[in-house]
Amino acid sequence: MPEGSHGRVLIVGAGHAGGTAAALLRQHGWSGPVTLVGAEERPPYQRPPLSKGLMLDKVTPDDLHLKPHKFYAERDIELLTGRHAAAIDREARTVRFTDDSTIGYDHLVIATGARLRKLDVPGIDLAGVMSLRTADDALRLRAAIRPGLRVVVVGGGYIGLEAAASVRSLGAEVRVVERESRLMARVASAPLSDFVAGYARERGVAIELGASVCRFGGRDGRVETVQLDDGREFPCDLALVGIGVVAEQALAEAAGLDCQDGIRVDAHALTSDPAISAVGDCTRRPIALYDTHARLESVHNAVEQAKQVAARLCGKPAPAVEAPWTWSDQFDLRLQIAGLIAPADEAVVRGDPAKGSFAIFHVSPAGVLRAVEAVNAPLDFAFARMAIGKSLRTPPARLRDPAIALKEVALA
Ligand code: ADP
Repeated sequence: MPEGSHGRVLIVGAGHAGGTAAALLRQHGWSGPVTLVGAEERPPYQRPPLSKGLMLDKVTPDDLHLKPHKFYAERDIELLTGRHAAAIDREARTVRFTDDSTIGYDHLVIATGARLRKLDVPGIDLAGVMSLRTADDALRLRAAIRPGLRVVVVGGGYIGLEAAASVRSLGAEVRVVERESRLMARVASAPLSDFVAGYARERGVAIELGASVCRFGGRDGRVETVQLDDGREFPCDLALVGIGVVAEQALAEAAGLDCQDGIRVDAHALTSDPAISAVGDCTRRPIALYDTHARLESVHNAVEQAKQVAARLCGKPAPAVEAPWTWSDQFDLRLQIAGLIAPADEAVVRGDPAKGSFAIFHVSPAGVLRAVEAVNAPLDFAFARMAIGKSLRTPPARLRDPAIALKEVALA
């Protein structure tokens, strides 16, 4: 890398992670060329509102841009959209694109994100079987929804449940089909799963747990039924498949970078090649507070790793270690989850689930706060996120005692 922040940084992938990395490089004083290349036609935008605000007509895709168009020109960031990277040549330090063009780099940042996991069942290609990853997907889905439509949502994770809540709020009939025995099993504890299931059912969402779709039936090329593996069949005018995502790591893998359900990076988002970083959903990264590695799918992760790369390349101090966190809006619930939950942790509830505002704190056997799940409890969440980041001790007996204010709970 040429000295003094003069080299060319090429960022492949213009989502939340790639877009933020480009902006932060300039903010930290990177003076060399910065090129940001994305496969979609839009500039970097926020994905979380696609299943919520956009479905409910509260925002348009243009409202979701991370930065206005002119930002990129003003900061001398070359933004190339609609371009697919085909291969990385690590020797030559170039990336070839599917249009056969190549761009060279001194440092490459891979920010290719994740792609939808495919549901491999007969009928998946019928019209009316949809998915939700891009703004265009969301616009198509929104345009198809009308009151009374019978919608089946396959997958009871964040995307499926947020979309189910939005679609239900628009007056459609919704049935969620989830393979596991509870909702949001990837990210939530059982008590939160149960609360969310109850809340959605009270609002008219049918939920089938421990059930898998084995085929979609149709007529004239259009979906009409969904069949479950237990033999039940439901009529359906539209199906939304949201069964999670897999890391988009093919480019990195083909180039011989260390990958394992995600591109392996260190605590500074550097891959096994010192000239290549990777950020966002496509990475598997160390989680410092938990002494483990994980692939995280969150805005926080995208931004944190973008900060790590920008700081490292610009010679600035590494950003502080933070607890990983995510959020989800479903009906009028705001769920916020921070940290990683371990089976040995003790779960302590503060607040009143019946009133729709509470938090579940997860405390390690040593009394250290490890994770929190907050439901319409932003102050509890803010405290817990800070406490987790500092590995503070919050003994369950103190957490359970309503006479002790939350900010007094932690022991040094
Ligand atoms: P996202 O955050 O994109 O919603 P998650 O991985 O959290 O992704 O959620 C996807 C959900 O889909 C999980 O709860 C998973 O158990 C469920 N799932 C995966 N495969 C199937 C399937 N074939 N049928 C029904 N549900 C499925």
